[in-house]
Amino acid sequence: MRTILYPGSFDPVTEGHMDIIRRASSLFERLIVGILHNPQKPGGAFSIMERLKLLETATSSLPNVSVEAMTGLLVDAARACKADAVLRGIRSAAETESELQMARLNHHLAGIETLFMAASPAAIHISASYVREIGRLGGSLQGLVPEAVRPEIARTLAQNK
Ligand code: ADP
Repeated sequence: MRTILYPGSFDPVTEGHMDIIRRASSLFERLIVGILHNPQKPGGAFSIMERLKLLETATSSLPNVSVEAMTGLLVDAARACKADAVLRGIRSAAETESELQMARLNHHLAGIETLFMAASPAAIHISASYVREIGRLGGSLQGLVPEAVRPEIARTLAQNK
């Protein structure tokens, strides 16, 4: 297995995402972080360009990790970037139901395999939606988002009340 695609919204990148990225980047030759978005449905706290820059900064010390913005079906994005498989992080049993369905659908559509990585206990409570809420209300994001981009994330969210 050479190239793995890790897709998501990353609105914004969290320490939960970084836990998966760090651990998976040591297992594969290349890891592509795919910011999947639908141009017909704008929205989110951070623009796609902002998410891309935050992820690039947060992953700058990992030479085999790259970040791309992607639209359309995940299976088409995976084919376009020549990914051998897709990676998803799993935090809880509740998440597995929909993740399994998505994995089976993607296999049905294009024969693409999905690999699941269990979240580290230290990252299990972190979600981008709570990061957005805490940031908007002025709470500390220490330990929840990568340190290198924490001030930028906090500033954007505080302006987004
Ligand atoms: P999506 O909206 O596609 O779930 P996210 O940006 O929320 O996109 O998440 C991208 C991927 O990262 C998903 O596989 C998600 O399960 C995983 N993930 C999110 N938060 C964590 C965390 N705290 N620990 C491990 N994996 C996580």
